[in-house]
Amino acid sequence: MVSTIIHNIGKLVSGDWNRGVLNADAIRIENGLIKNVGGYDEVRKEGADVVVDVNGMTVIPGLIDPHTHLSFGDFSPMQHMVGLLTETLLQGTTTIIDEWLQFEGLPLFYGADVNGVKATALLSLKAYQNYRPGGAMKVFAGSIMLVEGLTKQDLAELRNQGVWRVGQIGGSTNIRDERIILQMVSWARELGYFVSTNLGPGVLPESLNMTPELVSAIKPDKIAHINGGTTAPPWDVVKRAIDGTGDCKVEIIPYGNLKMAMRVFEYLKNTNQLHRLVVGSDTPTGQGYLPVAIHRSILFLSSVCGLDADKAIASATGNVADCYGKYYSGFNVGKIEPGRAADLVVIDSPPGSVGNDALEAIQAGDMIGVAGVFVDGNLVGLRGKDSRPSRRNIKLNEKDLKVTCPDEYLFDPPRFYYRSTGPTYLL
Ligand SMILES: [Zn+2]
Repeated sequence: MVSTIIHNIGKLVSGDWNRGVLNADAIRIENGLIKNVGGYDEVRKEGADVVVDVNGMTVIPGLIDPHTHLSFGDFSPMQHMVGLLTETLLQGTTTIIDEWLQFEGLPLFYGADVNGVKATALLSLKAYQNYRPGGAMKVFAGSIMLVEGLTKQDLAELRNQGVWRVGQIGGSTNIRDERIILQMVSWARELGYFVSTNLGPGVLPESLNMTPELVSAIKPDKIAHINGGTTAPPWDVVKRAIDGTGDCKVEIIPYGNLKMAMRVFEYLKNTNQLHRLVVGSDTPTGQGYLPVAIHRSILFLSSVCGLDADKAIASATGNVADCYGKYYSGFNVGKIEPGRAADLVVIDSPPGSVGNDALEAIQAGDMIGVAGVFVDGNLVGLRGKDSRPSRRNIKLNEKDLKVTCPDEYLFDPPRFYYRSTGPTYLL
C-alpha cells in the first residue's frame, strides 16, 4: 500500500456544487483513492510514504472535459497534431469523455451504417480501456451514434460489451424521422444508457435540426453545447429546451457563442437552476485546439458572468460527475471526498495577478498557475507547456519542486512517471 498526504492547503475546493470550499487543509490518499479529508494532525496519524506540502496553494479536483471527439492515440488528424492529450493532462484536465470519434473516413458520417457505428464504439471503448494518454489521463471513450437501421439488439450487444453512452444525438447524417430517434432512445433508456443531444441547427450539412420539442421528448442527461457547436440556436429555442428538459445538465463550450453562453447563464441564475451547468470543450475542432479550454470556461463563468470560482470549478468537476457517475460506477472522479480517485490539481494565482490566491485570480479573470497534477494519487507533472507560473511551489518529502528556467516554463516541463503500482518520481 502506498500512502500519501497532501497538506498545507490554503483552499480546498471540493468540486461539489453544494459543498464548495471545504473546511480542511489536508488529504490522505491510500492506493490511489482519497481516504480522508480534514486537518493535518488528523490525517497524518498513521504516517505516510509521501508527504506533499502545497505551501498554502489551492487544491481542486482534476478537471473533466465531457465533450471531446477523439481519434486513436494522442493524435488529432484534424490539426495534424500529436501530444494534445498529454498537454491537456499536464494543464490539469485529468479526465475526458468522448462523444464519438472523429477522423477521416470513419464510418460514422459517411453513409452512417450500423456496422460502422457499432465497430467504432466498441473499438474506441476497448482501445482507451488499455491506453491512458500521458501515462495517466482517464479517457471514457466508446459512445454510440444513433443511425438508421440500428436495432434494440444492436444496443443490447454493445451494452453487454460495456458501452454506456449514446453520443450527442443530432450528429448523424441519415436519420430524418423523429419517431425513429425516439424509438431508439426508449430502447437505450431501457438498457441503461446515458443520453446526450444537440440542440438547434445541424452540426454537419446533412444532420438534423434538433428542435426544443424533440430534445424535450428525448429527456437527455445533457444538452451538448447549448450555446452552439459552434452556431447558437435562437434564444427562444434555447429557452424552450431549458424549460422542457427538467433537471438535465446544460453544457456550454468556449468554442460556441459566448453571448448565448452568457444569456443561458443569466437565465439559469434567475430561475435558480445554476446547478444544471456543465462546461465542455468539443475539442479538437476546426476552430482550434486549446489545452486549457476547460480553464477558459471556468474563467468565463466566474470573471465575466460573476459565478463564484468554486462553483465554476464544480461545473467542470462535480456537476459532470453527478451527470455521468450514475451510469457507470467506474466514474469515481470529480470530487474531493473519501472513496473517490485522488485526481487533484494544485493551482495558484499567477505572479502579478490582483488575485491573492487561485480563486481570487479566477474571479478577476486571470489564467491560473498550475503547480502539480496528481492522478490516482501519483504526481504526473508540475505543469504543462506555458502553463502560467504559480507564485508558490510544492514540496515533496521536503524537497522543493519547481521549474527554474525559461525552457522548462515554455517547452519542456518536467514529468513524473506514473506507475499504477505506486509512485515513481523523477527527482
Ligand atoms: Zn461535439
